[in-house]
Amino acid sequence: MPMEIFDLTIHELHDKLESKEVSSVEATRAMLARIEATDPKIGSFITVTKEQALADAEVADRCIADGKTGMLTGIPLALKDIFLTEGVRTTCGSRILHNFIPPYSATSWEKLKGQGAVLLGKLNQDEFAMGSSNESSCFGPSRNPWNTECIPGGSSGGSAAAVAARQATATLGTDTGGSIRQPASHCGCVGLKPTYGRVSRYGVIAYASSLDQVGPLTRDVTDCAVILGAIAGHDPKDSTSVDAPVPDYKAALTGNIKGLRIGLPKEYFIEGLDPDVQKTMAQAIETYRKLGADFVDISLPHTDFAVATYYLIATAEASSNLARYDGVRFGHRSPQADGLIDMMTKSRSEGFGLEVKRRIMIGTYALSSGYYDAYYVKAQKVRTLIMHDFIRAFEEVDVILTPVAPTPAFKIGEKINDPLQMYLSDIFTIPVNLAGTCAIALPAGFSANGLPIGLQLIGKPFNEETILRAAHAFEQATDWHNRKAEL
Ligand code: GLN
Repeated sequence: MPMEIFDLTIHELHDKLESKEVSSVEATRAMLARIEATDPKIGSFITVTKEQALADAEVADRCIADGKTGMLTGIPLALKDIFLTEGVRTTCGSRILHNFIPPYSATSWEKLKGQGAVLLGKLNQDEFAMGSSNESSCFGPSRNPWNTECIPGGSSGGSAAAVAARQATATLGTDTGGSIRQPASHCGCVGLKPTYGRVSRYGVIAYASSLDQVGPLTRDVTDCAVILGAIAGHDPKDSTSVDAPVPDYKAALTGNIKGLRIGLPKEYFIEGLDPDVQKTMAQAIETYRKLGADFVDISLPHTDFAVATYYLIATAEASSNLARYDGVRFGHRSPQADGLIDMMTKSRSEGFGLEVKRRIMIGTYALSSGYYDAYYVKAQKVRTLIMHDFIRAFEEVDVILTPVAPTPAFKIGEKINDPLQMYLSDIFTIPVNLAGTCAIALPAGFSANGLPIGLQLIGKPFNEETILRAAHAFEQATDWHNRKAEL
């Protein structure tokens, strides 16, 4: 089958743009046509910025003609609808922001745009990034390109589905408790959650500020390294972004992982793990052995408490962050309100969906004066224990290998009425956010019924190079990332 433009990775398209085999306008048109043809089935886009995209592409083509190019010049990308984009509606998947047009853009997008990237549009997500299935979006669910009866994962479901459906060359998502890695795993793409502080969150709508991070979703590991390199680094507008040099992530992809010490935490290889996931992990371990890695059995003893800890801290922070949606300055304002308090109550009641309301209630409860010590403070203490689990483990190993999710993608509707089951699907991704370190999800196999299964590599803080190098070596030795969902 001949390669279509929409099938290309960033580095492949970059080469074709450089050699003038295709122009950015052609590439952008190809992606827009692909979105038009496939999105009625997938639902990954909330907004398509067609005119803007073509205008950006023309500018990029002029830069290419002048020889002023970088890796991202003329590359068509799309963003989760949590990233503010100046002049382009940004909803965060919520009715309360259905009419919100931001006056400025997120730093991460500014950086990509500054390198000549083209914006195709804004992607579907769980409302305020709360969810694991993309079903809490007020725009309806996005669907898994491998089986449209299944969820694409969440909350960056549209970001993963758009990559898997080849509607965008790459996308950005956010990860508070797994929202980049879990959808990447379910859709068969690469997704990286950088270390807390590695990437600016300025202009990214806040969910849980001590956990949120921005990261790429891509076709392969090289693209992931390219995007991370472009968005990482200190931003004076985000005091939590760390002022440390950004390594050349692409140069780290040497293919050599001989002697790399990989930890296998016993708490992550439990009974009840889906048999297809189990088999995929066993094969991945074998592949790494052949590549010369050494395996070490390790323990992360507080893993069992991670989900409960996360759902106290994340909801507490969310209840505070979401207080700003009051109908006063922006977003939905109830048209039939009687006075200020009634206006705020009605605006919030009408604007927020069920899952968001549930989280605000849990978080407010956990922070209330009588329960603060019992819930919020306790959760913070357990978070410290979980962090120490990782610090100790990384004294022995360079990276930690685990599944991304306990099962492949589930059916739309299967868990939506059972929040606890939904929350448990993040059991392997949440500890990384609580510990503040980095992790990558990459394609590692398929279930018997044809759904992608991902592998997670967790790295030491600010050591994204090592997990990228290990992921790249695996990718070189396998061809899972080359499989394409038929649409
Ligand atoms: N599924 C988790 C939640 O609902 C994680 C979401 C995220 O990472 N944004 O909170």
